[in-house]
Amino acid sequence: MKGPFDVAPRAEIHRAEWLAPVCAPPVENGAVVSLGGRVVAAGAFESVRTECPAGAQTIDHGSAVLFPALVNCHTHLELSGLKGKIAFPQPGFRQWVSLLFDLRGAMGHDFAAEGLRLGEEEVFRSATGLCGDITNGGAAGRAGFPGLERRIFLELLGFNLDSMEAATPAGIQIDPSGPIPAPHSVYSASAAIIAQCKDWTRARGLPFTMHVAEHSEEIEFLNNGKGFCRELLERLGRFDPAWKPPGKTPVEYLEWLGVLDPNTLLVHAVHMSESDWRLAAARNCTVVFCPRSNRNLGAGRPGIEKPLSLGLNCCLATDSLASNSDLDLFGEAGHVFDNHPSIDPRKILEMITLNPSRALGRAGEFGSIEPGAKANMLAVAVGAGVSERGLAEAVVQSGREGAWKWVSNLPG
Ligand SMILES: [Zn+2]
Repeated sequence: MKGPFDVAPRAEIHRAEWLAPVCAPPVENGAVVSLGGRVVAAGAFESVRTECPAGAQTIDHGSAVLFPALVNCHTHLELSGLKGKIAFPQPGFRQWVSLLFDLRGAMGHDFAAEGLRLGEEEVFRSATGLCGDITNGGAAGRAGFPGLERRIFLELLGFNLDSMEAATPAGIQIDPSGPIPAPHSVYSASAAIIAQCKDWTRARGLPFTMHVAEHSEEIEFLNNGKGFCRELLERLGRFDPAWKPPGKTPVEYLEWLGVLDPNTLLVHAVHMSESDWRLAAARNCTVVFCPRSNRNLGAGRPGIEKPLSLGLNCCLATDSLASNSDLDLFGEAGHVFDNHPSIDPRKILEMITLNPSRALGRAGEFGSIEPGAKANMLAVAVGAGVSERGLAEAVVQSGREGAWKWVSNLPG
């Protein structure tokens, strides 16, 4: 006997004035055929309709742009209960950390689970279909929100610990079906933890992500072993008295540890030297910028233009609701559009779709509209008569104003 969900899925043709597949140039009077949550065909309406199965339903989105669901490759959804609890901008990273510790300490034991629930809902309402989400262990389970996928990373801390296992929270097993181990940063995880996390992810072809060169205190600590990072580690009882500062930049240090390669995501990358950028480019790393978080924490302004000019895979992400006012990647894109005027808006759109899906190992499924991709699409209302030349800017502007809707986000 057949149940109510055993009905064969019906094909849909979505048509709009523009289709922006991101992986290919925009198509005027474009269309996408979807079936069972996947894209079957995408291109000009007149040619695509001939490939469409009989009986398909046509949905016309008028003057909108069909655009892929966004990909936010650096979030900490379990911190979402902190939304609105920290005033921005903070005077500096030191003051922010102090506030964060106080607020977290005052939260109940279901803080992470409740944060995950709030965060998943907010990220989905921010036009996002996939996120690379960091947990400290409290939100290591699968996404519970239909239409949203999480690539889960388990953040490991332990400057005074000598192995990945020692840094893994109780009750969590590091295994290929679970979250991907990810050291927090060069000042909060030991060299052994960083190298072992990289070995583990490299052996499985998985992304390796960590916060790198986020604030000036991190640079100072690796250079001479002093400053706020040292004070913090000592206060927490996590400093290793046998440790000697390497006298290197964070990127030089990671190169020395052998962790820079195309599957490595350098998150933040605000305090980078010219030679750091050359090294990151030579190793073909991904760079993940969170410019509104950096501004809110008084951490500085990332030089996004440089790695773009060097051809690195560059992404934008929101970071958490402890350092950002929302999880809206269109807002992040708008911030870059306003503050980095030499960056082509088409590049900005790639940084919230195609590039992060590549970084998370999900290219072809997320971040583009092409046969085989998930049919998680948006219709962005840009108004009639927008030219191809003005299209990317129009998507950024309409997106940041919230002028978009989900077209199809069937799990598939
Ligand atoms: Zn972060």
